[in-house]
Amino acid sequence: MTLPSTPARASRPNGQWAVDGHAPLNPNEVVKAADNGLNVRDRIENVYAAGGFDSIPADDLRGRLRWWGLYTQRKPGIDGGRTATLEPHELEDRYFMLRVRIDGGALTTEQLRTIGAISTEFGRGTADITDRQNIQIHWIRVEDVPEIWRRLEAVGLSTTETAGDVPRVILGSPVAGIAADEILDPTWAIGEIARRYLGDPELANLPRKFKTAITGHPSQDVQHQINDIAFVAVNHPELGPGFDLWVGGALSVAPRLGERLGAFVREEQVPDVWGAITSLFRDYGYRRLRTKARLKFLLADWGAAWFRTVLQDEFLGYELPDGPPPPRPTRAGDHVGVHAQKDGRFYVGAAPYVGRVSGPALTAVAELADAAGSHRIRLTPYQKLLVLDVPADQVAAVVTGLRAHGLEAEPSPFRQSTIACTGIEFCKFAIVETKATAIRAIDSLDERLMDQPGLAPISLHINGCPNSCARIQTADIGLKGQLVMDDDGAQVPGYQVHLGGGLASPDRDEAGLGRTVRGLKVTADGVPEYVERVVRRYVADRESTPT
Ligand code: SF4
Repeated sequence: MTLPSTPARASRPNGQWAVDGHAPLNPNEVVKAADNGLNVRDRIENVYAAGGFDSIPADDLRGRLRWWGLYTQRKPGIDGGRTATLEPHELEDRYFMLRVRIDGGALTTEQLRTIGAISTEFGRGTADITDRQNIQIHWIRVEDVPEIWRRLEAVGLSTTETAGDVPRVILGSPVAGIAADEILDPTWAIGEIARRYLGDPELANLPRKFKTAITGHPSQDVQHQINDIAFVAVNHPELGPGFDLWVGGALSVAPRLGERLGAFVREEQVPDVWGAITSLFRDYGYRRLRTKARLKFLLADWGAAWFRTVLQDEFLGYELPDGPPPPRPTRAGDHVGVHAQKDGRFYVGAAPYVGRVSGPALTAVAELADAAGSHRIRLTPYQKLLVLDVPADQVAAVVTGLRAHGLEAEPSPFRQSTIACTGIEFCKFAIVETKATAIRAIDSLDERLMDQPGLAPISLHINGCPNSCARIQTADIGLKGQLVMDDDGAQVPGYQVHLGGGLASPDRDEAGLGRTVRGLKVTADGVPEYVERVVRRYVADRESTPT
């Protein structure tokens, strides 16, 4: 066996704690070093809630509040052309977006009802299911945050570390524990990671955000290739079921797919391995440039073999056996539709429009599920919602009831496969609008492509800026928000087009990032027409290709 060689040392400090010491090398690191972000909770409860928005100093307002899931939201009416030119205080409103943490996307109906009530009472009824299985509520006042936490925590929910340079929500298979074809139920591993490490001050100052995904389902339904760390269930020929370990995936402006370390992790080892890799990232991750701080950059420099060596020798204290890669997914991982569970009951997966729901709708879904004898809900990384444990004789009522509240279990192909980020409506970084554009496009495409019955879902992902909250590089058609020129030479909201991306799926051997087509841009108004053209060309090509 050839031992991996030590990577060359950088000629200048990268801010790696284990190599360069702890001196902060950029303003964000200065703020984090001055006070752990978790400590801001005490000030919110005891100072800011009473003093209001103006009592919050800048380092907490735009920094540490994120450790508890609070982002200032964008002032209404500021166009995208001014996003980069205004000072933060000119751009931000006096309200917050609050992100509720839902590890594994798993909720009880009681928890869903609580979120719905909080949205209705404190958030003007706003609620979005995100593509990381969280729920985001807008229009939150800092004065109301302690009462919101009290209500969330009373039902076992929190907003802890839903943003900031911390371990973010753990993506988990939405069908964990119920799918007949599951290899391993990841519920224990997800819960144990959260129990041991969530809110741990030792892991609350990472170089950058740190995203986790765990699935035991053969559909590989958690987008594992674009997470910092991922565990994907496999059957080891000698050791039985366990997880294949992936690290270093992330999108944004320098997208990179995660890599396998070739290591096999037994279920009971998952929390230890997770803790070891998170600690490795904390100690060796780069802290000089924010744009080079995600784990993917360390992995790119070290390579998978050296990464595994450091993990085992310095952080884990034992070697992991080699293991097999996951096979190609067996079916689509969005779980939309009606599906049998292994216990004979059913789960119903339904699509809102691009994750947009509302507080009253969430409350109604909780009531509907309870009335059908179900008390469990799951959210998916595709901005969808599942009602679990539905008896056969209640399935039709649940499908109809969900439809009445804007959730469709038999969606059109574009409603099923379109996701969109928050965009200019609330996001300070946005250049263009996203959700309303996506909803208009879905409705228009349903009409335009009525002559294509049975069209397979074509993924359309829409971002409001170059960040990649809606994973544009992993879509058949990805749209990145920017200002573009219209036919009259005027600057208007639009998108740069990425084509041909996708993660491993039943139709696709290997994950690949979508490519920008040189100069190809589309105005927001032109999205439906453009997508229709791409789809018709794709269908024509497919039909003219001999099989
Ligand atoms: Fe905001 Fe950009 Fe993320 Fe969209 S992609 S939510 S506009 S930061």
